[in-house]
Amino acid sequence: MSKPSVTRTAAARIPTRHGDFQLCYYTNTLDNKEHLAFYMGDLAQAEAALARVHSECFTGDVLGSLRCDCGEQLDRALALVAQEGLGVVVYLRQEGRGIGLEQKLRAYNLQDQGYDTVDANLMLGHGADERSYSLAACILEDLGVKSVRLMTNNPAKISALEAEGVKVTARVPLEIAVNAENQGYMLTKAKRMDHLLVKPYAATHQ
Ligand SMILES: [Zn+2]
Repeated sequence: MSKPSVTRTAAARIPTRHGDFQLCYYTNTLDNKEHLAFYMGDLAQAEAALARVHSECFTGDVLGSLRCDCGEQLDRALALVAQEGLGVVVYLRQEGRGIGLEQKLRAYNLQDQGYDTVDANLMLGHGADERSYSLAACILEDLGVKSVRLMTNNPAKISALEAEGVKVTARVPLEIAVNAENQGYMLTKAKRMDHLLVKPYAATHQ
């Protein structure tokens, strides 16, 4: 398979409560989705730029669902970028670890019956994680970013990005508070998906 490519077709200033960002809209040769980059500062030739590669989560990012930590991670990432005045959030349209919103809602129902997030995805005929990071690598390259400090708790994401040619110089943890709704999910991410999380374990011993 040939390497996918992206084209930045539009960009605009978006003022937020964290400050002014630039939102870039990308088309690509891999799928028909609207992948985005949201950045602050001069990224051209940037070394060790603060970066997050965030996969879309409508329920968490937009609705503020407490079932997962996505919305809070996104907000924290924007705050950290604003603090440094330089950095980027690549926003990939791969909802529900790549299975899409409809399937994710079905998986939530299975989770409410007692299955964890990994088993629920498997029961629906999906992989535990179907995300791809090749377009994120293309977008970072297009922005001129030379290397990143990646805001993530997920070592598999670092490996996947490195395999796509992204130079990751450090990991910046993005661990958010555990609540009654997300505790099981967070524990599964730590136990079964190797996420580097401390709080879910602590919460089970309270
Ligand atoms: Zn989420």
